[in-house]
Amino acid sequence: MHEPVALDLVGVGFGPSNLGLAIALSERSGPALSARFVERQERFGWHRGMLLEDATMQVSFLKDLVTQRNPASGYGFLSYLHARGRLVDFINYGSAFPTRIEFHDYLEWAAAGFADRVDYGSEVQRIAAVPGEPGLLDVSTSRGPLRTRNVVLATGLVPHVPDGVRRGERVWHSSELLTRIDTVRDPGRVVVVGAGQSAAEALDHLHRTFPAAQVHAVFGRYGYSPADDTPFANRVFDPSAVDAFHRAPAEVKDLILGYHGNTNYSVVDPELIEALYRRHYHERVSGRERLRFHNVSRVADAIEVDGRVELAVESMVDGSREVLTADLVVYATGYRPSDPAHLLGALAGSCLRDEEGRLRVGRDYRLATRPELTAGIYVQGATEHSHGLSSTLLSTIAVRSGEIADSIAAARAAEPAPAWAARHDG
Ligand SMILES: Cc1cc2nc3c(=O)[nH]c(=O)nc-3n(C[C@H](O)[C@H](O)[C@H](O)COP(=O)(O)OP(=O)(O)OC[C@H]3O[C@@H](n4cnc5c(N)ncnc54)[C@H](O)[C@@H]3O)c2cc1C
Repeated sequence: MHEPVALDLVGVGFGPSNLGLAIALSERSGPALSARFVERQERFGWHRGMLLEDATMQVSFLKDLVTQRNPASGYGFLSYLHARGRLVDFINYGSAFPTRIEFHDYLEWAAAGFADRVDYGSEVQRIAAVPGEPGLLDVSTSRGPLRTRNVVLATGLVPHVPDGVRRGERVWHSSELLTRIDTVRDPGRVVVVGAGQSAAEALDHLHRTFPAAQVHAVFGRYGYSPADDTPFANRVFDPSAVDAFHRAPAEVKDLILGYHGNTNYSVVDPELIEALYRRHYHERVSGRERLRFHNVSRVADAIEVDGRVELAVESMVDGSREVLTADLVVYATGYRPSDPAHLLGALAGSCLRDEEGRLRVGRDYRLATRPELTAGIYVQGATEHSHGLSSTLLSTIAVRSGEIADSIAAARAAEPAPAWAARHDG
C-alpha cells in the first residue's frame, strides 16, 4: 500500500484567519508550499447568523486580509471594491467602517479565489502523530485522511451560554439569530440576555423586526458600557503590540488584558448606545413603552413550556423576582475561543504548557512541543494568553498570516535534503 503524500500544511477551518494564510502562501516568493484547507461549513461563511442589516465593522477596512502585510496585494478591500465597481461610491461613503454584510461579501470574494484548495462540508475530527515519523501528522476528516508536515488550527470562536442554560426551540444563542428568526411569528415578548455588542445589536434588531412586541433586555451591569475605539487604546491591536505582549512577563500580560479589555469585551459601539437610549426615551414620552431594561439583574430560571419560555428575572440588588413569559429568549452572552487540545487528542500530551496549564505558543504561533514531535502545530485565534487581545480579531490577520507562512517555509528549508538530492549534488 502507498503511503499518502505529505502536504506542507493542512489548515483546519477556513474562516478569515486561514483565508488570510492561503493568500499569504500564494503571495510568497520562493518554493511553493502545498496546502489544503478543511472547512466544516458547506460554503464560505463569516458569522452569518449575525449579518444584521446596518451592523458595521468594528475595525477599519484597512485591517482587511492583506493590507498591513502587502498593500500591493490583489486581495485587499480596495481591490474588492474595484472589482465590484463600487470604489468611487465607497470613497464618497466617507467611513472606514463598512457594514458587516459588505465585509462578508469581500471575504467571500477573496475565498472564491482559493476554492480549489478548500474541502468545504468536511470536518476535522482528530489530529494524530504518525508512528515512526516525528515530522508528520495524520489529520482525520469526515471526507478521509490527510497527511501533513504542519497543521494550522484556526477553528474560531464557540458560542457561550451561562452554566445551566439549555438552548432549545425558543432559547437561542445570538449566533443563531438570523438563521432562526423566520420561525418566530408575531411574538408578544422577546428577551435578550447580555450587555455586549451582540446583545445591543440583537435588541435593536428584534425591536425593529417585531413592531408589536415587548422587547426586554436583562443584564448584570447598570448600563451598557461604550467600546473604547480611541487611537491610543487602538494601538493594542497593532502588529507591534503582539511583539511587546509576547515577551512581557505574565503579570504585565494580565495588566494589559485588564486595562484594555474594554476595547472588545462586554462593550457596545457608543452610537448604538445613544440610539437605543433615544428610542427608549421617545417611547416613554409617547406612553408606548416596548423597550424594557432589567439592569443589575440575572436570569435565575428559564423553563420552556408549550412553545413559550417562563423566565425568572432576579434583581441582584434585593433578590426580588419577576416572571416574564416570552416567545423567544436570545442569550447574547459571548463566545470562547475553541480549545486546540480537543482536536489534538493524545498529541496534546506532547505539547508544552505554562505554569497555568495553558499551551505554550511561540512568537510564530507554533506550539512548543516535546523533542519527539518535530511536525509543526500552529494556532490562530486561541492565543490571547500569549499574543494579546488581537488574537481572536481581524486586526492582525494580514501580518500573522505572513509570519506563519514564513515560519513554515523556514522549517521546510531547514529540513535535510532527501537522499536523491545529495547523490545528485555529489
Ligand atoms: C458577530 C461577530 C462580529 C464580529 N465582528 C468583528 C469585527 O468587526 N472586527 C473584528 O476584528 N472581529 C470581529 N469578530 C471576531 C471574529 O472572531 C473574527 O472576525 C473572525 O471571525 C476570526 O476569524 P477565524 O478564521 O479565526 O475564526 P472564524 O471566523 O470563527 O472561522 C473558523 C472556521 O473554522 C471552522 N471550523 C471549526 N472547527 C472545525 C473543524 N473541526 N473542522 C473544520 N472546520 C472547522 C468553522 O466552521 C469556521 O468557519 C466578530 C465576531 C462575531 C461573532
